[in-house]
Amino acid sequence: MLKSRTEYSNACIVPAHRAHKSMTRFYRQFETVAAHSVIALLALFATNSVFAEESVVEPGEVAEAIADPGADQAPEALIDPVDMHEPGGPLADAVAAPTSAAAPFELLGETVMPGTSRRLAWSATELFEGVPVSTPVLVINGAEPGPTLCLTAAVHGDELNGIEMVRRVMHDMEPDKVSGTIIGVPIVNVQGFHGGSRDLPDRRDLNRYFPGNPNGSAAARIAHSFFINIVAHCDALIDLHTGSNERANLPQIRADLRNPDVVTLTQGFGSIVILHSTPEIGTLRHAATRAGIPAVTLEAGGPSQLELSEVRQGVKGIESLIASLGITRKVNLWGDPEPVYYRSSWVRADNGGILLADVGLGSTVRKGDLLGTITDPMNNSQIVVRSPYSGRIIGMARNQIVMPGFAAFHIGIQTDEAPAEAEPDDVLIHAPHDETDNLHGMSEEEE
Ligand SMILES: [Zn+2]
Repeated sequence: MLKSRTEYSNACIVPAHRAHKSMTRFYRQFETVAAHSVIALLALFATNSVFAEESVVEPGEVAEAIADPGADQAPEALIDPVDMHEPGGPLADAVAAPTSAAAPFELLGETVMPGTSRRLAWSATELFEGVPVSTPVLVINGAEPGPTLCLTAAVHGDELNGIEMVRRVMHDMEPDKVSGTIIGVPIVNVQGFHGGSRDLPDRRDLNRYFPGNPNGSAAARIAHSFFINIVAHCDALIDLHTGSNERANLPQIRADLRNPDVVTLTQGFGSIVILHSTPEIGTLRHAATRAGIPAVTLEAGGPSQLELSEVRQGVKGIESLIASLGITRKVNLWGDPEPVYYRSSWVRADNGGILLADVGLGSTVRKGDLLGTITDPMNNSQIVVRSPYSGRIIGMARNQIVMPGFAAFHIGIQTDEAPAEAEPDDVLIHAPHDETDNLHGMSEEEE
């Protein structure tokens, strides 16, 4: 069972005092949302050439850029998210014993009646021209009470698989068969999305600024607005990502397995790889969990593409979680369970050149196995890359030209020991960054 870190009252869910409104009308509105999403994605394909111009960034570079005062990227104070979670029911209580009737759901100054869905809009900032930029927030308020689950995608604007996952999950839901509330934000970083970019227009990575600061940089303000207006209303959160910078990830859940609430969340996804990963400070996952909202990252595929098999697997995992939380009764059938990896490590290129892989995502490798080759295009000399570990390829670079030090293959390593359960403050305040056992190979982070 999930335990709450903070005491909440139940003010978020006020008693239902109005009958169901015309569900059909709201549902039609929602259909329009889905159609718009498709149009947005089609428009995105039309501008696909933008993505091709992106440079390959070495994972360390982003952190260095943030520290470079010339780039105006100095780290800034973020607000302590504790107590930002507006009063709501602890997830377990909401799942186990919803006693009251479903209530109207208030979000962004609007009301979503029980048994209906609506498209709302969140606007955090303005374009340079002063025109407000808004992004759709889809809300399904079930006919029965239950927990509020949030799905967020495209915090990195070039990560498309999650956008389609949110669309599919939300579109499949029938509000009159839902117990609880689902909030789906297909495109959090709408400015990055429009530019085909991972980052905000000022080159900041939005996923380093949660929970934000209303008086900080543009990134900190956007993060703060999103956190206060949307995330604070969630009982649990799934943040959808892909690999970054020409890397792809096997569909996997990234979770801090030292936190029992988060572990409970991971167990609902069905057969999908789970990787223990301590969230970096500033990520949405870190800030939400620290605010008492258990959060995990679902990584699937790579950036700038729509990968249907990854999308399907992600949707199946999310729908399984939704059912495990009692929000729906839909049952997904899964094959054999996937392992939990408590350790993982990136294999880096020691030489520059053309990287060609000999393994694929999901391949099982043994220590010494051939992973790929790096060929110098000038003198044709070839270096083979071998696995220093026995494990599974859970992330890898697409074939490309690499520099020495480039993180090329991410190997999940099975170990017997689970990480010890930590005190929440240990987990969440210090968030140690361990270089030797690096788990940061994720789009949520640098790789
Ligand atoms: Zn990402």
